[in-house]
Amino acid sequence: MSDPFKTSDNEQTSMSGIARTDTNNADRPQMKPGKRVIRPWLLFSLLALLVVLLTVRDDLRQNAAESSEKAARYLAFDRLGWSPRDVFVWRLRLAGLADSPLGQQWAGAVERANNQPLRVGDQYHTSEAFADDQVEAHVYHMALERGQKLTWQLYRLDTSDSRLYASLERHESDGEGWSTVTELNADGATRSRVASLSGDYRIVLQPELFARVEYSLAIANGGSLPFPVEAASQRDIGSSFGALRDGGAREHHGVDIFAKRGTPVRAVINGHVRTGTGGIGGNHVWLSGGMLGLGGARYYYAHLDSFVIESGARVKQGEILGYVGNTGNASTTPPHLHFGIYSGGPVDPAPFLKPEPVLPVR
Ligand SMILES: [Zn+2]
Repeated sequence: MSDPFKTSDNEQTSMSGIARTDTNNADRPQMKPGKRVIRPWLLFSLLALLVVLLTVRDDLRQNAAESSEKAARYLAFDRLGWSPRDVFVWRLRLAGLADSPLGQQWAGAVERANNQPLRVGDQYHTSEAFADDQVEAHVYHMALERGQKLTWQLYRLDTSDSRLYASLERHESDGEGWSTVTELNADGATRSRVASLSGDYRIVLQPELFARVEYSLAIANGGSLPFPVEAASQRDIGSSFGALRDGGAREHHGVDIFAKRGTPVRAVINGHVRTGTGGIGGNHVWLSGGMLGLGGARYYYAHLDSFVIESGARVKQGEILGYVGNTGNASTTPPHLHFGIYSGGPVDPAPFLKPEPVLPVR
């Protein structure tokens, strides 16, 4: 799985956005070589310098969505795995600035900021500014477990049209590098992603060269599924994932959520259910998402006292599936729901079941 996140809302990254016209090219002065033969090389050098400067200024100002042609080029870069920031570095290179002290400073700003990482907890909010005479990046670090949902809201406090590069990146488990999960829009919309890989993540913000940018960033992380037992919470989880069972013969592939017998148990997603009555799970339900219940994760509810749904039915998230009990091999333990998640093997449900992320109030 290359994308460590799945989109949990209908966020779209539109490449064909706002067209912006730039008339600098039209204003380009028509310089003609003088008739006098005095120092033609000087005139030529000046002309060449002017052309380079104009090109560079244009390059630095151009927006990804400036024209449909540009948009197509960016889409092509996107297919190469290039972020808008990579494209900006490439433009600096084309302009011969990449190896200049300024270009080097810009390209190295993220790693410089990364050396003094700012750790972000479950809730974070900041308002910051980039000065136009400094070359800086801001980096916010967070550790996420598989199943945790990251929510963010980013918006510009300034009114300039200079570009702010913003991305969510994941630390590659097999190396030093960071890969871009998604670009962030500074449009103030609330967006979320669910981590499908545990690891270190960071939000990186950097303005283009010589830009003064102010922004507000709010970040929160939490769980991605509603709690499957009514009126219960994480505190009611009595036995965690991976605990040894049957004298070490097997591992506990789920969490046990203790509740009074008869407490409603609810569907954590829209899906398709299959019920069963035998084995160590006793009265159990398999809930699957995706087309016809195929593909995607499967959710296992065991030790139910009784069912509400019929096997083969489609259910909506939040619908009651049955009631907490102690059937199966739980007959000697207090009533509880054994809840498991299977997606290419058993997955720890605990990070999924944390409270939903709530953005801090400013
Ligand atoms: Zn269990």
